[in-house]
Amino acid sequence: MSADQTQPVRLVIFGRQGAGKGTQAKQLASHYGIAHISTGDMLRAAVREGTELGRQAKEVMDAGQLVSDDLILGIISDRLAEPDAQKGWLLDGFPRTPQQAEGLLGIVGDNGIDLAINLNVPEDVVIERISSRRVCSNCGEIYSVNNPPTSNWTCDNCGGDVVQRDDDTEDSVRKRLVLYNEQTEPLLDWFQDNGLLINVDGVGDPQAIAATLIDLVDARLAAQ
Ligand code: AMP
Repeated sequence: MSADQTQPVRLVIFGRQGAGKGTQAKQLASHYGIAHISTGDMLRAAVREGTELGRQAKEVMDAGQLVSDDLILGIISDRLAEPDAQKGWLLDGFPRTPQQAEGLLGIVGDNGIDLAINLNVPEDVVIERISSRRVCSNCGEIYSVNNPPTSNWTCDNCGGDVVQRDDDTEDSVRKRLVLYNEQTEPLLDWFQDNGLLINVDGVGDPQAIAATLIDLVDARLAAQ
């Protein structure tokens, strides 16, 4: 399957905070020509723009807690109805709780997801990665202290300031990892039981991981 496939491709990516979901999701979405839908990116944009949603979400996000299921399901339902999402989508950072997973299946139907990807990275590695992660405060491009933008913490894409996320503090990261283990990881069982799960090792060169992922997704889509 390639970027000119005619069937919409509908994917979900799972992985701990710092596993590289955002980086891989961007590559996959661009490869398949589908919408990259990141609830974290959408919430951060709302915070930046100072909307009502952003005001409601900021404190919760900075504390490493989850925004309410109703709020998130409302955002997702609206986003999936937009024209670009009719060509397919890749959900990143959603669903995160059993209620969100049920809500998603309610929106797209039990057969409405083609595959789920689990990007596997051990906890000690993600803690190290998150402490060095930096992001563009304007477009969300991801950098790190080991892979900075070319010039003086200014984004290579858009010229925005590249900063540390407000919720990338150690305390917040630990809370988010506990929530991931308790609420999100168990969701993988449903995808596994339905033969929809692809497990990928997320440690290594991001380009090589993206290439592996595309091969695996292509093979599974071709077999469906
Ligand atoms: P992320 O960029 O996916 O790590 O999300 C950053 C923060 O946004 C999370 O720690 C939550 O506070 C909030 N958030 C993002 N996606 C969701 C979601 N699906 N459900 C609840 N809260 C979310």
